[in-house]
Amino acid sequence: MLDLLIEGGELIDGTGKARRFADIGVAGDKVVEIGRLEGYPARKLINAKGRIVAPGFIDVHTHDDCLLLHAPKGAHPKLSQGVTTVITGNCGLSLAPLITQSPPPPLDLLGSGDWRFESFADYLDALEQVQPVVNAACLVGHSTLRVKHMQQLNRPATDDECARMANDLQSALQAGAIGMSTGVYYPPAQSATAEELIAVGTPLQAANGIVTMHIRDEGDAITAALREALHIGKTLGITTVLSHHKLVGTANHGRSVETLGMIEAASKNQSVCLDCYPYNASSTMLLPARVNQSSDVLVTWSKTEPQAAGRSLFDLARERGQAPVDVAKALQPAGAIYFAMDESDVSRIMSHPLSMIGSDGLAHDVQPHPRLWGTFPRVLGRYVREQRLLSLELAIYKMTGLSARRFGLQGRGVLAVGNFADIVIFDEHDITDRASYQQPTRVSTGIDAVVVNGVLAFKQGCTVNSHAGRVLRRA
Ligand SMILES: [Zn+2]
Repeated sequence: MLDLLIEGGELIDGTGKARRFADIGVAGDKVVEIGRLEGYPARKLINAKGRIVAPGFIDVHTHDDCLLLHAPKGAHPKLSQGVTTVITGNCGLSLAPLITQSPPPPLDLLGSGDWRFESFADYLDALEQVQPVVNAACLVGHSTLRVKHMQQLNRPATDDECARMANDLQSALQAGAIGMSTGVYYPPAQSATAEELIAVGTPLQAANGIVTMHIRDEGDAITAALREALHIGKTLGITTVLSHHKLVGTANHGRSVETLGMIEAASKNQSVCLDCYPYNASSTMLLPARVNQSSDVLVTWSKTEPQAAGRSLFDLARERGQAPVDVAKALQPAGAIYFAMDESDVSRIMSHPLSMIGSDGLAHDVQPHPRLWGTFPRVLGRYVREQRLLSLELAIYKMTGLSARRFGLQGRGVLAVGNFADIVIFDEHDITDRASYQQPTRVSTGIDAVVVNGVLAFKQGCTVNSHAGRVLRRA
């Protein structure tokens, strides 16, 4: 007897192979049969006629560390997109191990109320206890380690500080963290050298961990920043993920030809890949330096002037007769969306064989970037169906099989007998992101159902089970 039978759909299995008609039989948390299963006895039946059945999507770039600790009220930004697994702790920012009342920017992008974990093991245990809405594999943030172990952040770490950070990383890996993330672009880690990152990251070698990097510069100095990141990954001898690859600033538009060429050349000698999101605007803390690189800037939140959320910084500057950078300084601490990328780079990076899809969404912003709610349906609607930039099979591979392989998520990312039953059922003709810069939390259309570990978690626009996810600890 099957627990769940998904009947009549077209299977796209996450390997990149062409679609085929196949039914899926689930027992417990696993896929146990794939093929023609008409008439099989099953406790629950989902009719998937006219629909695509695919592995649940893996959001490889998230800042969901806090979000996952709390059961969703209403629709969930990730589950509602068909996402069944998230990678947390990116860009050098992880919630653990750090106890603080006031996380320094950009750590505050993760939210402010949950900085209460002495060790990474404590965080993973707490996450396991709440039973998260989706599966989570977790990275340790180098900036978080710096904030914990260094009194002064505006200098490279001493040997002793590096040893203490490495020690914390080692414990986290033993507890089940999958690797480390770095964010030398941001103030808390700007003074960190490549030598420091290599020293702290040393435990990743024996553990076969991964490193994800928000590189030092995504504008004029991007090639030097890429060289540094590739050098660190190569020296450590581990898989390197270049986070949200993009080119910022008009002068750099079109340079993805050059940067992808560099990454491709490096990939012949080391394991390297990248993630990207399907928008030509980025979002992070409000950085005066980035204001000048942008054609428009939207405020996503401000502690000093909460009513500025959702407004254009340039409009505010005009109204006040001030320079935009001065308004940016006055709103601190704050977050923003920056329109500073070129669509041709976005498309070129997304269609590159080494790229995976990751949202980089910020769940605690008052007026968040729409990527938080729209990333995956936007790739499948706008870039696959409307623009035919890539095939549906390839797009799904970049959200599932490729991601699971790169991040070492065993039994996930491919729909095959014996693998976990993380499944999304959607209408390829209807799937569309509805989140916009004006209305960023609108739920996407076209997702019929989402199954997490064999449990029906989302159906026709509603969360039906918020606790089917698991903590995916490093094997
Ligand atoms: Zn980042």
